[in-house]
This record gives sequence, C-alpha cells and structure tokens, in this order.
Amino acid sequence: MQRYDVTIVGGGSAGLTLALLLAPLGLKVALLEKGPMPQPAAPQFARVSALNPASMRVLSTVGAWSGIAKSAQPYTAMRVWEADSFANIDFSDAAGQPLGWICDNEQIRQQLYLQIQQQANIECLFDCDISKLEQTEREVLVQTASGQLLLSQLLVGADGVNSFVRQQQQLALTHWDYDQQAIVAIINTQLPHQQVARQVFLASGPLALLPLPGQQQCSIVWSAENAVATELMALSDTEFNQALTAASQSVLGCLSLNSARQRFGLKMRYASQWLRGRVLLVADAAHSIHPLAGQGMNLGLMDVAALAQILAAQQQAGKPLAEHRALRHYERWRKAEAQTLIAAMEAFKRGFSNDQHALKLVRGLGMSVLNKLPGVKQQIIAAALGNSGDLPDIARP
Ligand SMILES: Cc1cc2nc3c(=O)[nH]c(=O)nc-3n(C[C@H](O)[C@H](O)[C@H](O)COP(=O)(O)OP(=O)(O)OC[C@H]3O[C@@H](n4cnc5c(N)ncnc54)[C@H](O)[C@@H]3O)c2cc1C
Repeated sequence: MQRYDVTIVGGGSAGLTLALLLAPLGLKVALLEKGPMPQPAAPQFARVSALNPASMRVLSTVGAWSGIAKSAQPYTAMRVWEADSFANIDFSDAAGQPLGWICDNEQIRQQLYLQIQQQANIECLFDCDISKLEQTEREVLVQTASGQLLLSQLLVGADGVNSFVRQQQQLALTHWDYDQQAIVAIINTQLPHQQVARQVFLASGPLALLPLPGQQQCSIVWSAENAVATELMALSDTEFNQALTAASQSVLGCLSLNSARQRFGLKMRYASQWLRGRVLLVADAAHSIHPLAGQGMNLGLMDVAALAQILAAQQQAGKPLAEHRALRHYERWRKAEAQTLIAAMEAFKRGFSNDQHALKLVRGLGMSVLNKLPGVKQQIIAAALGNSGDLPDIARP
C-alpha cells in the first residue's frame, strides 16, 4: 500500500500540469494514466491547440513552455468573417505581441512529461487501469488492475470528456449535442498565412485556418453540421481541396490536404457537480465546449492553476488539503468561468448558424461596428489573450 497526498487520474495536459504545480509544494503525487508513456518524437501537428498567453504563463511556471515554444507557431492577428456577407472583424495586439500560439498537443504532453521526470515526488503509472475507487471520510483508496493499492487525501479526475472518475462518483452531467462534427487536417496553402489565425463562419458551421510553422501550412478545424461533415469526409482528396478552397473564399489561395482527415463529434458537456467528498474534477472531465474559440485546453489549464493555488494556501495555513470549504471555493470559482464560456460559445454557434437575411444584416452591421469600437475590441482582445475573468495568480499578465 502506497500513501500519497494527491492522486491524479489522467495524464493529458491538465493532469500533467497539475502534478507539476503540486510537486514544489512538497506534496507527494501519484499520476495514473491509462495510455502509454509519452515518447520523444518530432511534432506531427495531428492535433493542435491555440494556447493563449495566460496558458503560456502557467506552462512557463512549470518549466515546459520553452520546449513547447520551439515547435509552436505564434499568431499576431486574428481575422473572423462571415461568408457571403460584409461582416468581419480583425484583432491584433497594439504592441505586436502574439495573441497566442498554435501548439502540437503531443509536444505539450511530451514537454510536461520531461519536467515530471525531474521531480522525485511525482510517481507516474502508465498503461494503468483502475479497478476500484472508494472514498471514506479520511482518504481515497484506488486499486489498479495490476493489484497496486494507493491511498491519498485527495483524488483529482483529469481523465477527459468520458471521465471514469466522474461516472464512478456519479457526478451529474448536463450535455447536449452541437449537431456538428469537426474535421481536422493539415493543409498546404498557396499564399503565406502571415501569422494570422483565420475563421470564417459558414451557414453549416465555422472553418478555422490556424497557422503552422513554415509560412504555407495550416491546421484546419472545419466544424460542420453532421450531414455536411459526412459528405465532406466522403469526398476524394481533390474534391475536398476544392470544397475547402471555396469555403475559405480563397483567402490563402488554393488549399490542399497534407494529411489524412480526422473527424470529432462535438458535444457540450458540463458536470453540474465537480466535487464529492475528497474527489473532484478538472478540465475536460468537468466541461467540454465547442472548439470554435479554441478555449478548451486554456480553460482546463486555468482550472488546475486555480486548484493548485487553493491547495498551496491550505498547505501554508497548515490546514487539511481536502477541506470541504477550500474545495468548494475551487468548484464555485471555476464553474463560474466555465459557464461564461459555455454561454458565449452557444451564443456564437446559434447566432451564426442562422442563414436568414435579416439576421445576416444585423450580424454584418454588428461586426462592422465592433471592428471600429476600440473599447469593445480591447475587451474582446483581452478575452482572447486569456487576460479577462478571474484568473489564478500565476496566469495573470
Ligand atoms: C477539434 C478540437 C479542436 C480543439 N482546439 C482547441 C484549441 O485550439 N485550443 C484549446 O484550448 N482547446 C482546444 N480543444 C480542446 C482541447 O483539446 C481539450 O480541452 C484538452 O485537450 C483537454 O485536456 P484534458 O487534459 O482535460 O483531457 P485529455 O487531453 O483528454 O486527457 C485525458 C487523459 O486521461 C486519460 N484517461 C482517460 N480515462 C482514464 C482512466 N480511466 N484512467 C487513467 N487515465 C485515463 C486519457 O488517456 C488522457 O491521456 C479542441 C478540441 C477539439 C475536439
């Protein structure tokens, strides 16, 4: 039987970052991951995330950012527009600072794991299946399929959208289908992307063109209604390239696939309860949102930074880690932030998936006015930079 202060289930970006934030507090941490150990490999960009400066600061704190940045593509402007309308809006930072970075998801995990290997008080178990999870008033017991027993004061579910921890602890989930699927691929572009992240709203859903290293490569996230996505997946590469170029309104000239297409079903998931006794949820285990604003991983990293801050305060005050009042503080704080984003994504998705001419006109006027209002635009830029809302200390500018 091994004793730990905190057991983390899930070694994605959220779980690995949390382990690294807790280790300097002197806490003994176990991290259980059902998949294999991250292996060093060159970035493939099969899955990417747009990370904002607030996330960059969190990843810098744990020592992983310099490694991630080596393969990341900064973007210094964002351009959003609506197809077949005059609605458009452009964002850039007045000081020319990056608004964010397009990062390879696997590189993020690899660089975090490199840091973890230097921490004596984090123990990782990979290829690990949990066969039992029980909590008493005093501790949480985990038994792995290979028979190991782990006891800890606190257990954190960082095990993604289909969280085993959430289901096992019967934490209620609200969910709805966005009725869209995201098609993800790497593409070559005829024209240079010039470090601009672009997104066009089509009647069937948004298409994002995210700049990758090298001026003429992008990652696309094409979210489309289920039927449209099925049709797009069935097209030959040549037909898909034509459809993609047309959908992008040739903003980067002719576009052509440079990887296979992957498809992801899109669902909003929100756990109405994130906490039961000594077990709590973070990141995608607690919430998953539409990728149209590229905020899911950013939100999860803020969750773990907030939780680490609260646990550090408990440590310093000599109070128990899993004190109910402290864990409720985490839950209330982060639920409020997640709810704000979920509502914003819903408004965006519904607002732009209506093709009525009158609505289109209003959207066009609204976006054009926004584009000229520096005060409002500054607020939107602050949100995109991750600088708005109630940020954990280490994420503040
Ligand atoms: C198409 C698409 C585009 C996106 N683009 C962006 C973007 O641009 N910017 C952004 O911020 N976000 C983006 N996101 C969201 C982002 O990918 C997720 O929010 C983020 O990866 C979630 O991280 P996580 O650590 O919570 O979960 P995950 O990355 O899913 O990690 C969970 C880990 O838990 C492990 N696990 C699962 N079950 C168990 C178990 N029973 N026991 C042990 N381990 C377990 C899994 O193997 C996995 O390693 C996008 C999402 C999609 C679908």
